[in-house]
Amino acid sequence: MLAIWQVEYVTQILIAMSQQKKYCRLCKKIVRGRSDKKFCSNACKNEYHFRLRKSTQGVVTETDKILHRNRSILLECIGKNKKQIRISRTILDKKKFNHSYITGYYINSKEKVYHLIYDFAWMEFSDGSILIIRRG
Ligand SMILES: [Zn+2]
Repeated sequence: MLAIWQVEYVTQILIAMSQQKKYCRLCKKIVRGRSDKKFCSNACKNEYHFRLRKSTQGVVTETDKILHRNRSILLECIGKNKKQIRISRTILDKKKFNHSYITGYYINSKEKVYHLIYDFAWMEFSDGSILIIRRG
């Protein structure tokens, strides 16, 4: 989803394109000087990049948190030494495992989908049980 300042920025770009004028990406003042300039001042340039970094960081941190929690839950279930374990899906649900967040997947020769979470994989059976596998 775009933040309001991003929507405003896009709108300004469209207006600027139609008027052949360039507007500062942050404060929307007309930019004077070199034709490749995108900001009216260094202050605006710095603030723009600061906000961009901050909004990216928030989303990335949240996703990392979910993935790390998922890995912890799988580790908790499989224990320290087991190569694999088959458990009921409700155990994962109770621990608030988020099935939508994975780091990758692969499909084996029998067309079974393995969901990867870092060094673990999990696979769901039609009876609702889940196989957790330690990779490598
Ligand atoms: Zn500006």
